[in-house]
Amino acid sequence: MAAVLVSIAASACTPLRRTVPPDELPQRAVLALDGVDYRDVQDARARGKFASFNEPGRLISTFPSISDVAWHAIFGVYPPAGYQRVFYSTRHNAVLGDALSAISPIEYEERMDYAFDTKFHHLGAYLISSPVARREVDTDIENILSSRGRRTVYLYNVGPDALQHTRGEIGPYLDHLDAKLTELQSRYRARTGRTLEIVLLSDHGHNRGLDAQFVPIIEALAAHGFTAARAITASNHIAFSVDGVTTGFGVFCHADSVQRVAGLLADVPGVDLVTRQQSDSLFFVERAIKGPDGTMRRAEGRVSWRVRRDSAQFGYQSITGDPLALAEVQARMRADGVLDADGFATADVWTRYTAAARYPVAVVRIVHGHLRAARNAAPILVSLDDKYRVGLGMVSVANRMRPLGGTHGALSATNATGIVMSNTITPHDDLAMSVRTQFGGFDDLRDAKVVNPQLDIISIDMLRDDRLQASQWRGVVTLPDTGAVAVLSLPPRYRQWAAKASQLRIEVRRRDQGRDGGTLVRSTVVPFDSTARNSEGSRWAWTAQAFGVTGLTAGEQYTVRVQLERTRRTGDGVVIERAQTVLTAVLTAARDGIPWAY
Ligand SMILES: [Zn+2]
Repeated sequence: MAAVLVSIAASACTPLRRTVPPDELPQRAVLALDGVDYRDVQDARARGKFASFNEPGRLISTFPSISDVAWHAIFGVYPPAGYQRVFYSTRHNAVLGDALSAISPIEYEERMDYAFDTKFHHLGAYLISSPVARREVDTDIENILSSRGRRTVYLYNVGPDALQHTRGEIGPYLDHLDAKLTELQSRYRARTGRTLEIVLLSDHGHNRGLDAQFVPIIEALAAHGFTAARAITASNHIAFSVDGVTTGFGVFCHADSVQRVAGLLADVPGVDLVTRQQSDSLFFVERAIKGPDGTMRRAEGRVSWRVRRDSAQFGYQSITGDPLALAEVQARMRADGVLDADGFATADVWTRYTAAARYPVAVVRIVHGHLRAARNAAPILVSLDDKYRVGLGMVSVANRMRPLGGTHGALSATNATGIVMSNTITPHDDLAMSVRTQFGGFDDLRDAKVVNPQLDIISIDMLRDDRLQASQWRGVVTLPDTGAVAVLSLPPRYRQWAAKASQLRIEVRRRDQGRDGGTLVRSTVVPFDSTARNSEGSRWAWTAQAFGVTGLTAGEQYTVRVQLERTRRTGDGVVIERAQTVLTAVLTAARDGIPWAY
């Protein structure tokens, strides 16, 4: 058995990058503006703003229409661990993440050239949103004009979202943005004689629900005997993937309870609709509808997908009451001949016909939301009416310190419609998952920065199937088909030392009263060389088994110490000349005895 990843080529193939000379200004700036609603940009254009841009397209968010899942989809970064930073992990059967993870950078942010330049993370931005939002824009302009050697410069701004969560005014913000972009363009032209290509993207809309009521979700379920828990060990346990104030979120429960919980949630006043996963290809949509006589009825529909001729096709059937309100559109699609005999069409066709619908491109987003939006995708997704919101976790605490503004998360157009706007092309309406194809794929995103040494036990899929990672590992290692890999990331300051190290020692200790910080349960040595290294020279990977982090006790915490060693061969064997500890991590073994990162 190939326990260690085997080298198939000594030299790494360098991924193809469109580069510009090191002293040249970027040719394109991509501004990722969090939470700018399509309606607000149209209003600004009606005031004469953004006149140098072409007509914007709708950028239809993911479901839930929230930032982490939407930005990862927009940039084509591998899906995040959960819909939000605090999330339920199926492998651990536990809600993971805490206050700290809620404000630490996540991969799409790490891949930006500039994000959080003001040193305020999400939390800070929520507390002082208006000055931060404007200063972010000012800083963007200076950053773009001081960038060199990058064809595209990517900038992420949290400001506009935070602003609207706290009742700040988006109109004056957009006017300020327009003025600064005009200034940017004239300074850029003065220096280069060219026009800078500017792309504005936003990941979702904002529902303007300033006076929304909190839905007592936990209490409503408790009335039926269900309990919110951090682990699901009984059929009445429920775990949420919610962090902050939102109108769309994931719910996890015992497999036997999914149908019942979805039904109960659909009946909670304030819940607009609930989707649930029946299988990998079949999903149900439910909503409660008040009849003219005041009695409650149930609308139910079926969403499914399949692959035909290498392309994904999506279908929707109303069982009763047409919960996605698509009957009229479907009739038009049928008349136009774009639905096949079974009622299926591609994502592009659904986008063309339903981007402006009450639930934009819902058929595709529901499937994506349950299967691909997050690595721990939920069997139940809940979408609220704009007159309501839920609030749990850290950001809600911060938010409660200021008057609450609107929010987002739901399936509906008011929550899910962001923008895609450019001064070089007229983009068409598009989904978060495919919009990058209108701009060449965003394949010149920078590598995620490694700031501190890090150890992650992840699925091999994350290296093999991720469009951004795959090219870095291809040619360096042969990856096994399935299973866990241990990925060690080292920042540049370690690399000189690492270059002379020949092996890595991994000590796994149970966190108990044992000597040296706990009882030693495993000590493993793996070769440390290019056979395990990515082309960037920043990360190394071994199978979890070779790394000695399998077969641990589920739920137990372990201290994992990683030591680089320089060795010398003598007559008596191999002698360790020098050793340096690069990392000590505390990891918890998941249900299968592997300390998965998510
Ligand atoms: Zn937000």
